[in-house]
Amino acid sequence: MKRLYAVAKATAIVLYLYGTGSSAELSTENQAKLMKSVDSYAARMSEVALKIWSAPELGYQETKTSALLQDELRKAGFKIEAGVAGIPTAFVARAGTSDGPVIAILAEIDALPGMSQAATPERKPIPDQIAGHACGHHLFGSGSVAAAIAIKTWLQETGMKAQIRVYGTPAEEGGGGKVYMVRAELFKDVDVTLYWHPGDANNASQDRNLANTSAKFRFHGQASHAAVAPDRGRSALDALEAMNFMVNYMREHVPQDVRIHYVITNGGAAPNVVPEFAESYYYVRHPDPRVVAEVFERVKKAAEGAALGTGTTFDYEVINGVYSILPNDVLGRIMDANLRRIGPPAWTAEEMAFAEKLQKTLPGKNLPALTSAKEVTKYRFNGQKYSSTDSGDVSWVTPLATLNTATWVPGTAAHTWQATAAGGTSIGLKGTIVAAKTLALTVAELYTSPDVIQTAKGEFDKSRGPSFVYKPLIGDRQPPLDYRKGSPSAGTE
Ligand SMILES: [Zn+2]
Repeated sequence: MKRLYAVAKATAIVLYLYGTGSSAELSTENQAKLMKSVDSYAARMSEVALKIWSAPELGYQETKTSALLQDELRKAGFKIEAGVAGIPTAFVARAGTSDGPVIAILAEIDALPGMSQAATPERKPIPDQIAGHACGHHLFGSGSVAAAIAIKTWLQETGMKAQIRVYGTPAEEGGGGKVYMVRAELFKDVDVTLYWHPGDANNASQDRNLANTSAKFRFHGQASHAAVAPDRGRSALDALEAMNFMVNYMREHVPQDVRIHYVITNGGAAPNVVPEFAESYYYVRHPDPRVVAEVFERVKKAAEGAALGTGTTFDYEVINGVYSILPNDVLGRIMDANLRRIGPPAWTAEEMAFAEKLQKTLPGKNLPALTSAKEVTKYRFNGQKYSSTDSGDVSWVTPLATLNTATWVPGTAAHTWQATAAGGTSIGLKGTIVAAKTLALTVAELYTSPDVIQTAKGEFDKSRGPSFVYKPLIGDRQPPLDYRKGSPSAGTE
């Protein structure tokens, strides 16, 4: 045992130092067991995914979707805690033992407004359907559940002491569900978190993206006749413009990679009335969440100065705030090795024909070849992406790794009708099974090599820095449970 431990440790160190791919030995017998287990649930998984796809639900309103996934997990023997973090559709499902490593798998569930589309290679919205799974979260949720059920069965068979969890995470599309779950300390005792996302290629690259805070600034002045009694008015719009002016000057004196964008959501109603109310909507982004927090404080100072100088008052509301992804190379390389072990999805002639037809509708000339869906892209670590997601917060409280599989036709971007379309076909389902298998093998491999988990944690601690303390960028605001009920675009990333 001692010797085994030493070997595992040495392997882990080699992996960490030289990045030589997968380390721990998960026997081929165990690998086969897990893959078979996913295969035996694949038909049911497909049913669940298509049921969610046919009845898409918007952020924080995923009542049926969340209940369906919870039911699947409950039937498989998971214990469910629902309505966590003050979010009715959020849940944590647990199976396994209370001692041993705890590995969590994320399951996103929300759809997008206005993305209704049939499973056809030409544009065909489904009448009376207000939303669509244009980001593939119906696959995301059901694939993660499939992986977790396979792991649970395997833990039972092997008698291994470990715990598997599924985090049902609502409202990724701008509602920041995971941020509230992290703030509620639901990941406190998690050793490693894994997730995947539908895509148009197969890869386990681990990249950074941008942390982001968004807020609405509201100025309050005094209305007056703009020509007859301007001296009695105090313009909220003047304050708003003064704030924008100061923030625009500030751009010269912030770190290089800071992005600040704003729109004016209310600038008054008529030129002959001094505006008593004005509102702007700001985003601040940077790869480091701590820089975002600092710059956001300075933006607030600009609002304060603008109000002071114009004789108005102001308040602000943080709409959303997410950390950037803190990538983990140790976990990424294991995920990559397992993805290669499983291999990309194989398409039938019929699926190829669908893909060919659908690809003709995609904009742009340099589209990737259809055969790229049959490859695994080269592994990359720490590339810079410019998007933002609420998985970022998870990556700063537990080591996190991700995975993409081809569930869409090569060249398809997320949030398009073409993504909704492919997600409703066997192309989407096949990619999901590849993801479920890859996740299952990766979790099992980590369970059998606690030292690799320790190495991943070591890397995580080093990347965060010794003085890091998690402070959510949303501050103390409550989950915006109604954000998709009013203006449908409010708070999107
Ligand atoms: Zn998504």
